[in-house]
Amino acid sequence: ATDSAYAYPLLIKRILQSGVQAGGPHRIIYRDQQSYDYPTLYQRVCRFANALTDLGVRAGDTVAVLDWDSHRYLESFFAIPMLGAILHTVNVRLAPEQILYTLQHAQDTWILTHDDFAPVLAPMQAELPAIRGYLRLTDTPEIATEILPYVGEYEALLAASAASYEFADFDENAIATLFYTTGTTGDPKGVCFSHRQLVLHTLNEVNVLQAPSTDLLHGDRVYMPITPMFHVHAWGVPYSATLMGCEQVYPGRYEPQVLLELIQKHKVDFSHCVPTILSMILSQAQEMDFNGWRVLIGGSALPKGLARKAKSMNIDVRAAYGMSETCPLLTAAFLPAQVRAADFEEQLEWRTKTGSPVPLVDLRLMDVDGHFVPHDGQSVGEIVVRAPWLTQAYFKDPQSSTHLWAHGWLHTGDVASIDEYGRVQIHDRIKDVIKTGGEWISSLALENLISQHPQVLEVAVVGVPDPQWGERPVALIVPHQPDQAPSAAEIRQHLKQAVSEGHLPKWAIPSQIHCVEQIAKTSVGKLDKKRIRRQLDTQAIG
Ligand code: ADP
Repeated sequence: ATDSAYAYPLLIKRILQSGVQAGGPHRIIYRDQQSYDYPTLYQRVCRFANALTDLGVRAGDTVAVLDWDSHRYLESFFAIPMLGAILHTVNVRLAPEQILYTLQHAQDTWILTHDDFAPVLAPMQAELPAIRGYLRLTDTPEIATEILPYVGEYEALLAASAASYEFADFDENAIATLFYTTGTTGDPKGVCFSHRQLVLHTLNEVNVLQAPSTDLLHGDRVYMPITPMFHVHAWGVPYSATLMGCEQVYPGRYEPQVLLELIQKHKVDFSHCVPTILSMILSQAQEMDFNGWRVLIGGSALPKGLARKAKSMNIDVRAAYGMSETCPLLTAAFLPAQVRAADFEEQLEWRTKTGSPVPLVDLRLMDVDGHFVPHDGQSVGEIVVRAPWLTQAYFKDPQSSTHLWAHGWLHTGDVASIDEYGRVQIHDRIKDVIKTGGEWISSLALENLISQHPQVLEVAVVGVPDPQWGERPVALIVPHQPDQAPSAAEIRQHLKQAVSEGHLPKWAIPSQIHCVEQIAKTSVGKLDKKRIRRQLDTQAIG
C-alpha cells in the first residue's frame, strides 16, 4: 500500500460524523424555536453545504457569520470549514468601525447575518466591494426586509437543497476558522486555526470534560454555552459536545430570564462563562436551586466570593484558563479524589486556582531574559506555552511571530507562579499589575479578597498614576443592594483582616475605594481595565 492509503486527515467532518453516531436521538435545541435530533443535524449541514456550493462558495473563500448563539451557528461551525472554506466568526459586540475593519482585513467574500446586525452592515456595503452575497439569518422569516440585498434566507435555502453531500478529504493543515481578539489592548488581531488543530483541541477538551476529576460533561448530559460562539468558538465546546453526542441548548441572545428558563426547562447540566456573566445570572435568579449545574469559569479569574455564592445556589463552579491565541484551553481545575471528598471550603482553593495544564500542553514560567523560573509556589514569571493548537502568528502578519513566540515559546502576557501540586496561580496580566514604590501588587489578589465581603457583587482594581509611589491601587465596587453599599472604611477594615492574617501587605490596601452602579466591560463581558483607567484618569469616576 502507498502512504496515501493510510492517510486519514484530521478534518472537522470527523467530529460531526462520529458525533452523529454517538448522539442519535439527543436533541439540538434553539430557544423555543427549533429542536431536532443528530441525524437531522447532519442532514441540515449537508443541505447548507449544498446551498453554499450552489451559490458559488468554494474552498479557500472566507465566510463571515454574525449571529447570536444558535443552531444555525452550530451548523456553520461544521458546514463552512467542511467545504474547505474559512469560517470567520464576527465579534458582533465590537464597535461598527471595528467590525468593518475585521471584515476588510479577513477579506470576507460572503456574509451570513442575523436581522439584528443588518442595520450595522447596511451602511458599510460600499466599503465591502469583495462581498459576493449576503445571506439572511432570522427567527422571523415571515417579516420581509430589504435592508441588505440578500441572496436568500437560511431556512428557505436549506429547504430547497439536497440532504446529502459527499465531503471531500483535503489537507488537515488548511485553515478552518478565523476570528479577531477582542482588543482589550490595541487593534483587533486575527487568529486562525487549522482543521488539525481544532480536531486535536476537541479530543483533548472531551477528555478534560469527561475526567472524573472534573466531571463536567459527557454524552448523557445537557450542554448550553454562555460564552459567545464568536469568541474562540465558544471555547471549542460546541465541537466537544457534538463529538460526545450531547443534548445541546442554544440560547440566542443572552437575556437572563431566557437563560434561567432554558436551564430549568431542559435541565442543563453544563455551561461555561466569564465570571461577570455568572454574577449577572445569579443576581437575577433570586433563591433558585440550580440542581448541581456545572459551570466552568474562564476568561478572568474566578473570585472566591462568587464561587461561594454559586455554591449556595447549588452550582458546581471551577476555573479554567486560556486565551484566543491558544484555541483556548491551557489549564483546568482538576480535583483529585481526596479533594473531592473534602468539604467545600477546602475545595475552594482548588476550584478557584486556574488548575494544572491539560494533556499535551507544556506550560512554563519565564523571566524577561528568556530563562525558566522554578515551579516552587513562590517564584513568579510569565506563562509561556507549547501545544499542538497554538496560533503561529496573527492573520496576515507573519512578523508578529517574532514577538509572540520569543525564545520559541508562545508568550501569554500573564504573570503566575506554579505550586508543588502543579497548580497555576495567575497573579495578573503583565499590563494590569500595579507597580507601587518598587513593589508589585496583583490586582486579581485584591479583587479576590474584596469579592469576599458579603455586600460586594462585583469589584475591579486598577493602578492609577501617583507622583510619590508610581502607581496606587483604586477599587471600584458594585454593591449587591445599592441601599446597603459598604463604605470605603468597611472595605478597608475587611482588607485589614486579610493583612493581619498575612494574605496581603499593608501598603496594598487601595488608596481610593468607590461604589459605582456598573463597571466597564469588554465585548465579551470581562472587566475592561483599559477603559476603567481612562475613566479614572478623566475623573469620570471618583
Ligand atoms: P482578551 O485579551 O481580549 O481579553 P482573551 O479572551 O484571549 O482576550 O483573554 C485571554 C486572557 O484572559 C488571558 O491571557 C488571561 O489574562 C485572562 N484569563 C483567562 N482565563 C483566566 C483565568 N482563569 N484566570 C485569570 N485570568 C484569565
